[in-house]
Amino acid sequence: MSKKNHIPGGIEGLGGEILIDSHCHLQSLDQGERLDAVEAARERGVQGFLIPGIELDEADDILALCHSQKGIWCALGVHPHQAKGWTGASAARLESYLDDPKVVAVGECGLDFFYDHAPRSVQEEALRTQWHIAQERDLPVVVHNRDSNEEMLEVLASGEFKNLKADFHSFAGGLEMAQELIRRNFYLGFTGMVTFNRADNVREVLPQLPKKRALVETDTPYLAPVPYRGQPNRPAYVYEVAQRVAQEWEMSLPDLARLTSENFFRCFPKAASSVSG
Ligand SMILES: [Zn+2]
Repeated sequence: MSKKNHIPGGIEGLGGEILIDSHCHLQSLDQGERLDAVEAARERGVQGFLIPGIELDEADDILALCHSQKGIWCALGVHPHQAKGWTGASAARLESYLDDPKVVAVGECGLDFFYDHAPRSVQEEALRTQWHIAQERDLPVVVHNRDSNEEMLEVLASGEFKNLKADFHSFAGGLEMAQELIRRNFYLGFTGMVTFNRADNVREVLPQLPKKRALVETDTPYLAPVPYRGQPNRPAYVYEVAQRVAQEWEMSLPDLARLTSENFFRCFPKAASSVSG
């Protein structure tokens, strides 16, 4: 057996089920590394990949990657860090991509009041417009939310987004926020943070969370789980994220894999219809 790409924790541990990395920024890797990362993940049973967009200028690059293989989809949109780039022309440009069968969501969009890379009013404007577009198209949104629970809930409470469908990715917003989101039938994405020693604030949500609302993700290239902490993250490591969530729920890994994959296709129904495309 070759030791080349050997990562402990093999495909047999999944009992025939698959895992899906619901949030991996493959576009951030060097061109030459992207499909290697996908291949290494497939060797561990990870067969689905959702690439969330950061800015619209990368859309063609992301779409080319999605169309190169089955099981790779994307969200397109503008991240709150890039919200300064949201202009009057952005909405029409975003809409022009949404009929592509590989674009299964709008995002990632949101608010980030930790880094504040863009003025808060600009972040909120970009968020609202993207949510309106997604809602009109009946597409889910992939949401980034950091240190902005209160404002996020204000936008949600405005009454403008009664039909919004959402994945709050890399959820670390605390129990109260989780309950607000669960009440709206949103999904919560769990990253390698669930494996961090000090991340009780992330794990505490799990016992309260309806199992049909959980997604697993890596947020590649960030937040590598134990035992890869400090290294660049890769979609193959969604395996460790899933193992830890399964452990917290006292569930077998195959059951967790089946559950989160079903959740993924319920959250992103357009992915289900293009599973072989
Ligand atoms: Zn992200």
